[in-house]
Amino acid sequence: MSNDGKHDPSCIFCRIVAGEAPAHRVWEDEATLVFLDIFPVSPGHTLIITKGHHENLFEAPAGSLAAVGAVSKRIAEALREELAPAGMMVFQLNGADAGQTVFHYHMHLLPRWPGQELVLHTRVPGDPVALADLAAKLVARLERSAS
Ligand SMILES: [Zn+2]
Repeated sequence: MSNDGKHDPSCIFCRIVAGEAPAHRVWEDEATLVFLDIFPVSPGHTLIITKGHHENLFEAPAGSLAAVGAVSKRIAEALREELAPAGMMVFQLNGADAGQTVFHYHMHLLPRWPGQELVLHTRVPGDPVALADLAAKLVARLERSAS
């Protein structure tokens, strides 16, 4: 896990990294894991996380943040090709008062369409079949672009 933090068994994202909790995975490399948000604000709402457990921007090493940034471009391009959104919002929240709800560093990619209300989180779960279908399409697209 490169220079990353330790696995925290009480953290849902650490459990996803370890394969102990399910996720609609899209991408994985040495430093990052990418999966669809199970409570999508819009179709294609995707999370990029550091593999190691770091609570937020202030605790994560710069190298891990750089890895997240680099992969964000690749994932954003795949989302744009797959879903053709009008825009792509990138956001990253640090601390409960900033709206952070899972205390393991993550970046949101949020495809956006005209007329969409600006919200950061929802409690409405996405359709698991649609999430699995989109994840599979993105995986295939990323594999094609890597070859
Ligand atoms: Zn964690």
